[in-house]
Amino acid sequence: MSNDIPAQDFFARSEAAVADTALRRKLENATGRHLEHVAATRAEFPAYEAERDASRRIKEHAIAHLDQLLVQLKERLEAHGCRVFVAADAAEARKYIVELARARGVRRVVKGKSMATEEIELNPALGEAGCEVVETDLGEYIVQLRRERPSHIITPAIHLSKEDIGLLFNEKLHIPYTSEPAALTAVARERLRETFLAADMGVTGVNFAIAEFGTLVLVENEGNGRMSSTLPEVFVAVMGIEKVIPSLEDLSHFLEVLARTATGQKLTTYTNFISGPRRDGETDGPGEVHVVMLDNGRTAMLADPVLREALYCLRCGACLNVCPVYRRIGGHAYGSTYPGPIGSIVSPSLFGATSAALPFASTLCGACREICPVKIDIPRILLHLRWKETAGSASEGKSALPEPKWPRAAERAREGVESFARLANRPNTMRLMGKLAALALWPFARRGYLKWMPPPFSNWTRVRDFPAPKLTRRRKARRASSGTASAAPAANVSRASR
Ligand code: SF4
Repeated sequence: MSNDIPAQDFFARSEAAVADTALRRKLENATGRHLEHVAATRAEFPAYEAERDASRRIKEHAIAHLDQLLVQLKERLEAHGCRVFVAADAAEARKYIVELARARGVRRVVKGKSMATEEIELNPALGEAGCEVVETDLGEYIVQLRRERPSHIITPAIHLSKEDIGLLFNEKLHIPYTSEPAALTAVARERLRETFLAADMGVTGVNFAIAEFGTLVLVENEGNGRMSSTLPEVFVAVMGIEKVIPSLEDLSHFLEVLARTATGQKLTTYTNFISGPRRDGETDGPGEVHVVMLDNGRTAMLADPVLREALYCLRCGACLNVCPVYRRIGGHAYGSTYPGPIGSIVSPSLFGATSAALPFASTLCGACREICPVKIDIPRILLHLRWKETAGSASEGKSALPEPKWPRAAERAREGVESFARLANRPNTMRLMGKLAALALWPFARRGYLKWMPPPFSNWTRVRDFPAPKLTRRRKARRASSGTASAAPAANVSRASR
Protein backbone atom coordinates (compact mmCIF):
# COMPACT_ATOMS: atom_id res chain seq x y z
CA MET A 1 0.00 0.00 0.00
CA SER A 2 1.15 3.49 -0.70
CA ASN A 3 1.72 6.13 1.96
CA ASP A 4 0.44 8.75 -0.49
CA ILE A 5 -3.11 8.89 0.81
CA PRO A 6 -5.30 11.98 0.42
CA ALA A 7 -6.41 13.62 3.68
CA GLN A 8 -10.06 13.28 2.72
CA ASP A 9 -9.75 9.51 2.91
CA PHE A 10 -9.06 9.69 6.63
CA PHE A 11 -12.62 10.83 7.32
CA ALA A 12 -14.19 8.30 4.98
CA ARG A 13 -12.09 5.50 6.44
CA SER A 14 -12.82 6.50 10.05
CA GLU A 15 -16.56 6.64 9.43
CA ALA A 16 -16.47 3.18 7.86
CA ALA A 17 -14.32 1.80 10.68
CA VAL A 18 -16.52 3.22 13.45
CA ALA A 19 -19.57 1.64 11.82
CA ASP A 20 -17.82 -1.77 11.78
CA THR A 21 -18.99 -3.25 15.09
CA ALA A 22 -16.98 -6.46 14.63
CA LEU A 23 -13.78 -4.45 14.17
CA ARG A 24 -14.53 -2.37 17.26
CA ARG A 25 -15.09 -5.50 19.32
CA LYS A 26 -11.76 -7.02 18.21
CA LEU A 27 -9.91 -3.79 18.93
CA GLU A 28 -11.51 -3.37 22.35
CA ASN A 29 -10.68 -6.96 23.30
CA ALA A 30 -7.07 -6.87 22.14
CA THR A 31 -6.19 -3.42 23.46
CA GLY A 32 -8.04 -4.09 26.73
CA ARG A 33 -6.03 -7.28 27.29
CA HIS A 34 -2.83 -5.40 26.55
CA LEU A 35 -3.61 -2.67 29.07
CA GLU A 36 -4.33 -5.28 31.76
CA HIS A 37 -0.97 -6.97 31.12
CA VAL A 38 0.86 -3.66 31.19
CA ALA A 39 -0.79 -2.64 34.47
CA ALA A 40 0.04 -6.01 36.08
CA THR A 41 3.69 -6.00 34.96
CA ARG A 42 4.23 -2.45 36.11
CA ALA A 43 2.57 -3.07 39.47
CA GLU A 44 5.14 -5.73 40.35
CA PHE A 45 8.07 -3.49 39.39
CA PRO A 46 8.35 -0.57 41.84
CA ALA A 47 11.33 0.90 39.98
CA TYR A 48 9.27 1.41 36.83
CA GLU A 49 8.82 5.18 37.28
CA ALA A 50 12.51 5.70 38.03
CA GLU A 51 13.45 3.69 34.92
CA ARG A 52 10.96 5.70 32.89
CA ASP A 53 12.53 8.96 34.06
CA ALA A 54 16.01 7.62 33.28
CA SER A 55 14.91 6.56 29.78
CA ARG A 56 13.44 9.98 29.16
CA ARG A 57 16.66 11.72 30.26
CA ILE A 58 18.77 9.50 27.99
CA LYS A 59 16.56 10.23 25.01
CA GLU A 60 16.71 13.97 25.70
CA HIS A 61 20.49 13.76 25.75
CA ALA A 62 20.72 11.50 22.68
CA ILE A 63 18.48 13.66 20.52
CA ALA A 64 20.28 16.81 21.66
CA HIS A 65 23.60 15.24 20.55
CA LEU A 66 22.27 13.31 17.57
CA ASP A 67 24.90 14.48 15.08
CA GLN A 68 27.86 13.48 17.28
CA LEU A 69 26.35 10.13 18.19
CA LEU A 70 25.61 9.26 14.57
CA VAL A 71 29.18 10.06 13.53
CA GLN A 72 30.50 7.88 16.37
CA LEU A 73 28.09 5.05 15.52
CA LYS A 74 29.00 5.13 11.83
CA GLU A 75 32.74 5.03 12.58
CA ARG A 76 32.38 2.09 14.99
CA LEU A 77 30.10 0.12 12.65
CA GLU A 78 32.50 0.61 9.75
CA ALA A 79 35.39 -0.44 11.97
CA HIS A 80 33.52 -3.75 12.50
CA GLY A 81 33.19 -4.24 8.73
CA CYS A 82 29.62 -2.94 8.28
CA ARG A 83 28.77 -0.77 5.30
CA VAL A 84 26.79 2.29 6.34
CA PHE A 85 24.57 4.29 4.01
CA VAL A 86 22.89 7.50 5.16
CA ALA A 87 19.61 7.95 3.27
CA ALA A 88 18.14 11.44 3.10
CA ASP A 89 14.71 10.11 2.19
CA ALA A 90 12.71 6.97 1.48
CA ALA A 91 13.62 6.95 -2.23
CA GLU A 92 17.37 6.91 -1.48
CA ALA A 93 16.98 4.12 1.06
CA ARG A 94 14.91 2.00 -1.35
CA LYS A 95 17.35 2.59 -4.20
CA TYR A 96 20.34 1.52 -2.11
CA ILE A 97 18.71 -1.72 -0.97
CA VAL A 98 17.26 -2.59 -4.39
CA GLU A 99 20.60 -1.98 -6.13
CA LEU A 100 22.33 -4.10 -3.50
CA ALA A 101 19.84 -6.93 -4.07
CA ARG A 102 20.38 -6.71 -7.84
CA ALA A 103 24.17 -6.62 -7.48
CA ARG A 104 24.18 -9.74 -5.28
CA GLY A 105 21.68 -11.62 -7.45
CA VAL A 106 19.18 -11.86 -4.59
CA ARG A 107 16.05 -13.87 -5.37
CA ARG A 108 14.45 -14.25 -1.95
CA VAL A 109 14.37 -11.75 0.96
CA VAL A 110 13.25 -12.56 4.50
CA LYS A 111 12.17 -9.65 6.65
CA GLY A 112 12.01 -9.28 10.39
CA LYS A 113 9.59 -6.80 11.87
CA SER A 114 10.45 -3.28 10.77
CA MET A 115 8.28 -0.19 10.69
CA ALA A 116 11.12 1.72 8.98
CA THR A 117 10.92 -0.60 5.95
CA GLU A 118 7.15 -0.11 5.89
CA GLU A 119 7.82 3.62 5.98
CA ILE A 120 10.05 3.48 2.89
CA GLU A 121 7.74 0.99 1.11
CA LEU A 122 10.57 -1.44 0.55
CA ASN A 123 8.53 -4.56 -0.24
CA PRO A 124 6.96 -3.29 -3.49
CA ALA A 125 10.33 -1.91 -4.64
CA LEU A 126 12.05 -5.26 -4.07
CA GLY A 127 9.12 -7.03 -5.71
CA GLU A 128 9.51 -4.86 -8.82
CA ALA A 129 13.19 -5.81 -8.86
CA GLY A 130 12.18 -9.48 -9.14
CA CYS A 131 12.72 -10.46 -5.49
CA GLU A 132 10.29 -12.54 -3.48
CA VAL A 133 9.87 -10.79 -0.12
CA VAL A 134 8.54 -12.79 2.82
CA GLU A 135 7.56 -11.21 6.14
CA THR A 136 8.60 -13.55 8.94
CA ASP A 137 7.01 -11.93 12.01
CA LEU A 138 3.76 -13.86 12.44
CA GLY A 139 1.54 -10.78 12.48
CA GLU A 140 3.35 -9.27 9.49
CA TYR A 141 3.12 -12.61 7.67
CA ILE A 142 -0.66 -12.62 8.19
CA VAL A 143 -1.17 -9.07 6.90
CA GLN A 144 1.15 -9.76 3.98
CA LEU A 145 -1.02 -12.74 3.00
CA ARG A 146 -3.99 -10.34 3.06
CA ARG A 147 -2.00 -7.74 1.07
CA GLU A 148 -2.65 -5.21 3.82
CA ARG A 149 -0.64 -2.66 5.75
CA PRO A 150 -0.03 -3.49 9.46
CA SER A 151 -2.86 -2.18 11.61
CA HIS A 152 -0.68 -1.62 14.69
CA ILE A 153 2.99 -0.90 15.35
CA ILE A 154 3.47 -3.96 17.58
CA THR A 155 0.47 -6.13 16.73
CA PRO A 156 0.12 -5.88 12.94
CA ALA A 157 -2.95 -8.19 12.76
CA ILE A 158 -4.78 -6.71 15.75
CA HIS A 159 -7.84 -6.14 13.54
CA LEU A 160 -8.27 -9.89 12.92
CA SER A 161 -9.79 -12.64 15.06
CA LYS A 162 -8.37 -16.17 15.19
CA GLU A 163 -11.33 -17.21 13.05
CA ASP A 164 -10.36 -14.61 10.41
CA ILE A 165 -6.82 -16.01 10.41
CA GLY A 166 -8.10 -19.58 10.16
CA LEU A 167 -10.10 -18.66 7.06
CA LEU A 168 -7.11 -16.81 5.61
CA PHE A 169 -4.76 -19.78 6.05
CA ASN A 170 -7.39 -22.09 4.62
CA GLU A 171 -7.68 -19.92 1.51
CA LYS A 172 -4.04 -18.91 0.98
CA LEU A 173 -2.06 -21.81 2.42
CA HIS A 174 -4.59 -24.52 1.47
CA ILE A 175 -4.76 -26.14 4.90
CA PRO A 176 -7.93 -27.45 6.57
CA TYR A 177 -9.74 -24.71 8.46
CA THR A 178 -8.84 -24.31 12.12
CA SER A 179 -9.08 -21.38 14.49
CA GLU A 180 -6.76 -22.97 17.06
CA PRO A 181 -3.92 -20.45 17.66
CA ALA A 182 -1.29 -23.13 18.36
CA ALA A 183 -2.12 -24.97 15.13
CA LEU A 184 -2.10 -21.76 13.08
CA THR A 185 1.25 -20.73 14.55
CA ALA A 186 2.73 -24.17 13.81
CA VAL A 187 1.67 -23.93 10.16
CA ALA A 188 3.23 -20.49 9.77
CA ARG A 189 6.41 -21.62 11.52
CA GLU A 190 6.77 -24.62 9.22
CA ARG A 191 6.32 -22.54 6.06
CA LEU A 192 8.68 -19.82 7.26
CA ARG A 193 11.45 -22.25 8.23
CA GLU A 194 11.78 -23.37 4.60
CA THR A 195 11.85 -19.74 3.52
CA PHE A 196 14.64 -18.79 5.93
CA LEU A 197 16.86 -21.57 4.63
CA ALA A 198 16.45 -20.47 1.02
CA ALA A 199 16.84 -16.70 1.59
CA ASP A 200 19.69 -14.69 0.05
CA MET A 201 19.06 -11.47 1.95
CA GLY A 202 17.66 -10.63 5.39
CA VAL A 203 16.21 -7.23 6.30
CA THR A 204 15.18 -6.03 9.76
CA GLY A 205 14.62 -2.84 11.65
CA VAL A 206 16.66 -1.68 14.65
CA ASN A 207 15.39 -0.92 18.16
CA PHE A 208 18.54 0.74 19.47
CA ALA A 209 21.98 1.49 18.04
CA ILE A 210 24.73 1.83 20.66
CA ALA A 211 27.19 4.50 19.57
CA GLU A 212 30.04 3.61 21.97
CA PHE A 213 30.41 0.08 20.59
CA GLY A 214 28.85 0.34 17.13
CA THR A 215 26.26 -2.30 18.03
CA LEU A 216 22.71 -2.71 16.73
CA VAL A 217 20.09 -4.05 19.12
CA LEU A 218 17.03 -5.93 17.99
CA VAL A 219 14.37 -6.98 20.52
CA GLU A 220 11.72 -9.51 19.55
CA ASN A 221 9.71 -12.50 20.74
CA GLU A 222 9.62 -14.94 17.85
CA GLY A 223 13.26 -15.47 16.94
CA ASN A 224 12.56 -14.44 13.37
CA GLY A 225 14.68 -11.32 13.76
CA ARG A 226 17.63 -13.47 14.79
CA MET A 227 17.07 -15.84 11.85
CA SER A 228 16.67 -12.97 9.35
CA SER A 229 19.85 -11.29 10.57
CA THR A 230 22.06 -14.39 10.73
CA LEU A 231 21.01 -17.00 8.13
CA PRO A 232 21.13 -15.12 4.79
CA GLU A 233 24.50 -14.14 3.33
CA VAL A 234 23.53 -10.47 3.10
CA PHE A 235 21.92 -8.66 6.01
CA VAL A 236 20.46 -5.13 5.84
CA ALA A 237 19.41 -3.20 8.95
CA VAL A 238 17.21 -0.16 8.38
CA MET A 239 17.20 2.32 11.26
CA GLY A 240 15.68 5.74 11.76
CA ILE A 241 18.48 8.08 12.82
CA GLU A 242 16.76 8.67 16.19
CA LYS A 243 17.47 5.08 17.28
CA VAL A 244 21.02 5.89 18.36
CA ILE A 245 21.81 5.89 22.10
CA PRO A 246 25.16 6.68 23.71
CA SER A 247 26.07 3.57 25.71
CA LEU A 248 25.38 -0.03 26.66
CA GLU A 249 24.54 1.11 30.19
CA ASP A 250 21.77 3.32 28.71
CA LEU A 251 20.30 0.29 27.00
CA SER A 252 19.62 -1.38 30.34
CA HIS A 253 17.12 1.37 31.25
CA PHE A 254 15.25 1.08 27.97
CA LEU A 255 15.01 -2.69 28.29
CA GLU A 256 13.35 -2.23 31.69
CA VAL A 257 10.52 -0.12 30.24
CA LEU A 258 10.12 -1.19 26.61
CA ALA A 259 8.72 -4.71 26.96
CA ARG A 260 6.69 -3.78 30.03
CA THR A 261 4.88 -1.10 28.04
CA ALA A 262 4.85 -2.75 24.62
CA THR A 263 3.62 -6.25 25.45
CA GLY A 264 3.27 -6.37 29.24
CA GLN A 265 6.35 -8.63 29.51
CA LYS A 266 9.29 -8.15 31.85
CA LEU A 267 11.64 -8.64 28.92
CA THR A 268 11.25 -9.77 25.34
CA THR A 269 12.26 -13.35 24.57
CA TYR A 270 15.21 -12.37 22.36
CA THR A 271 17.58 -9.42 22.65
CA ASN A 272 19.95 -9.57 19.67
CA PHE A 273 23.25 -7.67 19.49
CA ILE A 274 24.65 -7.23 15.99
CA SER A 275 28.07 -5.70 15.48
CA GLY A 276 29.16 -6.78 12.03
CA PRO A 277 29.60 -9.60 9.50
CA ARG A 278 31.12 -12.94 10.49
CA ARG A 279 34.83 -12.82 11.01
CA ASP A 280 37.50 -15.11 9.64
CA GLY A 281 37.18 -18.52 11.21
CA GLU A 282 33.53 -18.01 12.25
CA THR A 283 30.91 -20.26 10.70
CA ASP A 284 27.72 -18.37 11.55
CA GLY A 285 26.39 -14.98 10.60
CA PRO A 286 26.08 -13.01 7.39
CA GLY A 287 29.00 -12.32 5.10
CA GLU A 288 27.87 -8.71 4.61
CA VAL A 289 26.11 -6.30 6.96
CA HIS A 290 24.67 -3.07 5.57
CA VAL A 291 23.18 -0.39 7.82
CA VAL A 292 20.83 2.13 6.27
CA MET A 293 20.47 5.23 8.47
CA LEU A 294 17.21 6.86 7.49
CA ASP A 295 16.47 10.56 7.83
CA ASN A 296 13.27 10.98 5.76
CA GLY A 297 12.00 14.06 7.59
CA ARG A 298 13.56 13.40 10.99
CA THR A 299 16.04 16.29 10.87
CA ALA A 300 13.11 18.60 10.10
CA MET A 301 11.43 17.28 13.26
CA LEU A 302 14.65 17.87 15.14
CA ALA A 303 14.65 21.50 14.05
CA ASP A 304 11.18 22.07 15.52
CA PRO A 305 11.58 22.69 19.28
CA VAL A 306 8.17 21.19 20.11
CA LEU A 307 8.06 18.36 17.58
CA ARG A 308 11.60 17.09 18.31
CA GLU A 309 10.24 15.29 21.37
CA ALA A 310 8.51 12.86 18.99
CA LEU A 311 11.99 11.53 18.18
CA TYR A 312 12.20 10.03 21.68
CA CYS A 313 9.64 7.39 20.64
CA LEU A 314 10.57 3.75 21.27
CA ARG A 315 7.76 2.47 19.00
CA CYS A 316 6.29 0.48 21.88
CA GLY A 317 2.76 0.95 20.55
CA ALA A 318 1.19 1.53 23.97
CA CYS A 319 -0.24 4.92 23.06
CA LEU A 320 -2.30 3.20 20.36
CA ASN A 321 -3.79 0.74 22.82
CA VAL A 322 -4.87 3.44 25.23
CA CYS A 323 -6.15 5.93 22.64
CA PRO A 324 -9.97 6.20 22.51
CA VAL A 325 -9.79 7.13 18.81
CA TYR A 326 -7.48 4.26 17.78
CA ARG A 327 -9.54 1.80 19.81
CA ARG A 328 -12.58 2.64 17.74
CA ILE A 329 -11.18 3.06 14.25
CA GLY A 330 -8.07 0.81 14.20
CA GLY A 331 -4.87 1.44 12.29
CA HIS A 332 -5.97 1.29 8.66
CA ALA A 333 -8.24 4.31 8.96
CA TYR A 334 -5.21 6.51 9.59
CA GLY A 335 -3.85 5.67 6.14
CA SER A 336 -0.28 5.98 7.44
CA THR A 337 2.45 3.49 8.28
CA TYR A 338 2.29 4.87 11.81
CA PRO A 339 -1.26 4.99 13.20
CA GLY A 340 -2.53 6.14 16.59
CA PRO A 341 -1.23 9.05 18.65
CA ILE A 342 2.42 8.59 17.67
CA GLY A 343 1.39 8.27 14.03
CA SER A 344 -0.60 11.48 14.29
CA ILE A 345 2.49 13.43 15.36
CA VAL A 346 5.17 11.88 13.14
CA SER A 347 3.24 11.20 9.94
CA PRO A 348 2.95 14.83 8.75
CA SER A 349 6.76 15.14 8.88
CA LEU A 350 7.46 11.73 7.33
CA PHE A 351 4.75 11.67 4.67
CA GLY A 352 3.90 15.34 4.11
CA ALA A 353 0.61 17.08 3.51
CA THR A 354 -1.29 13.86 2.88
CA SER A 355 -1.17 13.19 6.64
CA ALA A 356 -2.16 16.74 7.63
CA ALA A 357 -5.52 15.61 9.01
CA LEU A 358 -4.02 13.19 11.54
CA PRO A 359 -3.16 15.67 14.34
CA PHE A 360 -6.91 16.33 14.47
CA ALA A 361 -7.60 12.62 15.14
CA SER A 362 -7.44 12.98 18.91
CA THR A 363 -9.63 13.87 21.85
CA LEU A 364 -6.57 15.31 23.68
CA CYS A 365 -7.50 13.18 26.69
CA GLY A 366 -3.83 12.76 27.65
CA ALA A 367 -3.92 8.96 28.09
CA CYS A 368 -1.09 8.59 25.55
CA ARG A 369 1.15 10.89 27.60
CA GLU A 370 0.35 8.96 30.76
CA ILE A 371 1.29 5.57 29.33
CA CYS A 372 4.30 6.59 27.22
CA PRO A 373 7.50 5.01 28.65
CA VAL A 374 9.50 8.13 27.76
CA LYS A 375 6.75 10.60 28.72
CA ILE A 376 6.32 12.20 25.31
CA ASP A 377 3.82 15.04 25.65
CA ILE A 378 1.76 13.95 22.65
CA PRO A 379 -1.26 16.23 23.32
CA ARG A 380 1.04 19.27 23.35
CA ILE A 381 2.58 18.22 20.03
CA LEU A 382 -0.85 17.57 18.54
CA LEU A 383 -1.95 21.10 19.45
CA HIS A 384 1.30 22.46 18.01
CA LEU A 385 0.72 20.62 14.72
CA ARG A 386 -2.90 21.76 14.59
CA TRP A 387 -1.74 25.31 15.07
CA LYS A 388 0.89 24.88 12.33
CA GLU A 389 -1.64 23.41 9.92
CA THR A 390 -4.16 26.17 10.59
CA ALA A 391 -1.59 28.98 10.51
CA GLY A 392 0.07 27.53 7.40
CA SER A 393 -3.16 27.11 5.49
CA ALA A 394 -4.32 30.60 6.51
CA SER A 395 -1.11 32.21 5.25
CA GLU A 396 -1.01 30.14 2.04
CA GLY A 397 -4.74 30.36 1.43
CA LYS A 398 -5.03 26.58 1.20
CA SER A 399 -5.06 23.54 3.41
CA ALA A 400 -4.35 19.86 2.92
CA LEU A 401 -7.48 19.19 4.96
CA PRO A 402 -10.79 18.68 3.19
CA GLU A 403 -12.15 22.22 3.19
CA PRO A 404 -15.91 21.81 3.46
CA LYS A 405 -16.05 19.27 6.25
CA TRP A 406 -14.49 21.12 9.20
CA PRO A 407 -16.50 24.36 8.96
CA ARG A 408 -19.77 22.47 8.49
CA ALA A 409 -19.09 20.10 11.38
CA ALA A 410 -17.94 22.94 13.65
CA GLU A 411 -20.93 25.08 12.68
CA ARG A 412 -23.35 22.20 13.33
CA ALA A 413 -21.76 21.54 16.72
CA ARG A 414 -21.99 25.23 17.67
CA GLU A 415 -25.66 25.42 16.61
CA GLY A 416 -26.44 22.28 18.59
CA VAL A 417 -24.84 23.66 21.76
CA GLU A 418 -26.68 26.98 21.36
CA SER A 419 -30.03 25.18 20.93
CA PHE A 420 -29.36 23.08 24.01
CA ALA A 421 -28.42 26.19 26.02
CA ARG A 422 -31.71 27.86 25.04
CA LEU A 423 -33.68 24.76 26.08
CA ALA A 424 -31.76 24.32 29.32
CA ASN A 425 -32.89 27.79 30.38
CA ARG A 426 -36.54 26.66 30.11
CA PRO A 427 -36.86 23.80 32.62
CA ASN A 428 -40.59 23.31 32.03
CA THR A 429 -40.09 22.97 28.30
CA MET A 430 -37.17 20.60 28.94
CA ARG A 431 -39.31 18.42 31.20
CA LEU A 432 -42.16 18.39 28.70
CA MET A 433 -39.86 17.47 25.81
CA GLY A 434 -38.22 14.76 27.88
CA LYS A 435 -41.58 13.27 28.71
CA LEU A 436 -42.76 13.39 25.10
CA ALA A 437 -39.49 11.83 23.91
CA ALA A 438 -39.76 9.08 26.51
CA LEU A 439 -43.34 8.32 25.51
CA ALA A 440 -42.50 8.31 21.80
CA LEU A 441 -39.31 6.26 22.03
CA TRP A 442 -40.06 3.78 24.82
CA PRO A 443 -41.97 1.29 22.56
CA PHE A 444 -38.86 1.03 20.34
CA ALA A 445 -36.43 0.39 23.18
CA ARG A 446 -34.87 -3.04 23.62
CA ARG A 447 -33.40 -3.79 27.02
CA GLY A 448 -33.28 -0.09 27.76
CA TYR A 449 -31.49 0.93 24.55
CA LEU A 450 -32.54 2.33 21.18
CA LYS A 451 -30.83 0.84 18.15
CA TRP A 452 -32.18 3.45 15.73
CA MET A 453 -33.29 7.07 15.92
CA PRO A 454 -34.26 9.51 13.14
CA PRO A 455 -31.82 12.21 11.89
CA PRO A 456 -29.91 14.03 13.28
CA PHE A 457 -29.75 11.48 16.14
CA SER A 458 -29.07 8.72 13.60
CA ASN A 459 -25.44 9.93 13.61
CA TRP A 460 -25.28 8.45 17.11
CA THR A 461 -27.24 5.23 16.58
CA ARG A 462 -25.33 4.45 13.39
CA VAL A 463 -22.32 3.58 15.53
CA ARG A 464 -23.72 2.76 19.01
CA ASP A 465 -26.95 2.19 20.92
CA PHE A 466 -28.64 5.11 22.68
CA PRO A 467 -29.91 4.71 26.28
CA ALA A 468 -33.72 4.98 26.13
CA PRO A 469 -35.24 7.76 28.31
CA LYS A 470 -36.41 6.15 31.56
CA LEU A 471 -40.05 7.08 31.93
CA THR A 472 -40.78 5.05 35.06
CA ARG A 473 -37.94 6.59 37.04
CA ARG A 474 -39.04 10.07 36.04
CA ARG A 475 -42.59 9.35 37.22
CA LYS A 476 -41.27 7.96 40.49
CA ALA A 477 -39.13 11.07 40.96
CA ARG A 478 -42.08 13.35 40.34
CA ARG A 479 -44.25 11.37 42.75
CA ALA A 480 -41.53 11.60 45.36
CA SER A 481 -41.02 15.34 44.94
CA SER A 482 -44.74 16.25 44.90
CA GLY A 483 -46.18 13.85 47.49
CA THR A 484 -43.76 12.59 50.08
CA ALA A 485 -40.93 15.09 50.07
CA SER A 486 -40.35 17.16 53.23
CA ALA A 487 -40.49 20.95 53.30
CA ALA A 488 -36.70 21.49 53.35
CA PRO A 489 -35.89 19.42 50.22
CA ALA A 490 -38.82 21.11 48.48
CA ALA A 491 -37.17 24.46 49.13
CA ASN A 492 -33.93 23.17 47.66
CA VAL A 493 -35.70 21.98 44.51
CA SER A 494 -37.29 25.36 44.19
CA ARG A 495 -33.94 27.16 44.50
CA ALA A 496 -32.28 24.82 42.04
CA SER A 497 -35.01 25.58 39.54
CA ARG A 498 -34.36 29.31 39.51
S1 SF4 B 1 4.89 7.73 21.67
FE1 SF4 B 1 5.46 6.68 23.59
S2 SF4 B 1 3.73 5.27 23.93
FE2 SF4 B 1 3.60 5.88 21.76
S3 SF4 B 1 4.76 4.33 20.63
FE3 SF4 B 1 6.20 5.99 21.12
S4 SF4 B 1 7.18 5.36 23.04
FE4 SF4 B 1 5.33 4.12 22.82
